[in-house]
Amino acid sequence: MTDIVQTMPWLAGSWRSVCTRLAEDRLPHALLVAGERGVGKRAWAEAVAGLLLCDHRAVVGADNLVACGQCKQCELVQAASHPDLRIYAPEKSRMVRVDQIRALAGFAVASAQVARRKVAIIDRADQLNVNAANALLKTLEEPVQGVTLILLQESGRPILPTIRSRCQALTLPVPEEAQAQHWLLAQVAMLDDDQRPGAEVLAKSLMLAGNAPRLALEYASGEFPAQRDEALEAFKRYLKGQIPVGEAARSFKAIGLEQTLWLFENWAADLARHAAGGEARDPDAADMLAFLAGRNPPWRAHELLDQVRQSREAAVYNVSPELEATRLLIAWRELMPRKRAPG
Ligand SMILES: [Zn+2]
Repeated sequence: MTDIVQTMPWLAGSWRSVCTRLAEDRLPHALLVAGERGVGKRAWAEAVAGLLLCDHRAVVGADNLVACGQCKQCELVQAASHPDLRIYAPEKSRMVRVDQIRALAGFAVASAQVARRKVAIIDRADQLNVNAANALLKTLEEPVQGVTLILLQESGRPILPTIRSRCQALTLPVPEEAQAQHWLLAQVAMLDDDQRPGAEVLAKSLMLAGNAPRLALEYASGEFPAQRDEALEAFKRYLKGQIPVGEAARSFKAIGLEQTLWLFENWAADLARHAAGGEARDPDAADMLAFLAGRNPPWRAHELLDQVRQSREAAVYNVSPELEATRLLIAWRELMPRKRAPG
């Protein structure tokens, strides 16, 4: 029996709201589930799918339902081979393609094979190309009895208003630091001794992930924290005029485009926080950001945020991280006080 409320307690509220709607037989045809990256959206959606497909749901405590974990449906879900559950995720191009959405439409109108209903998850609905979005709109406009669509959206990423308006929206929250840490420690406890990250790496990963637990786990077991340290160092040195922009941009190459944009977005958001009298989330960048915030009007931070958004839109066309880093680094350099020419 899998109980997501126990393993990921920060998702309890949104889980219960699904349970309540299910118990009252008013579960919507389509759910749009938003949440920060690494907060557990996919795990949540798969758990909801498992709950919907299960033949013997159990009631645990007040308005909390769980899948039984033992029926034929649950077995198939656990083996990731349930024919009435489909998951559509971006492929190589980082976009969900129109043929995937056409497959979804076919799946939605076919009869269920072994369960009494069908579930389709779109991970992620904010990465549909135009044709895919239009195709999905058709499916949303003609709801099929017994089919539930769960659309996942990363917070802050745009989604067509026409799609949004046909779904019921839910937001999954980011856990408190203590909850995130607890989950992360439980995950790394399952690793072998020689693979288990140290306390310092875990703390840094949590900070970098903004307490999004799955993202923190990904960071803790990967190269990202070290690569980001190196890139931040190069960023600072470039701002001080110690290295040319090309050299600074090169350190973002290994990080990849998505993460590079994400770093610049967070630094710009931290700069905006500083300008508003708040504190930066990234302590390693805090001194630099405090310096810049003290010498620039607050709208500069928002301009930098807009530039990241523009880069993200351009990312559809496979821009390189180095190229985008160069563009953003130059924009940041504008914030540095100009040295007076000697004499
Ligand atoms: Zn079951």
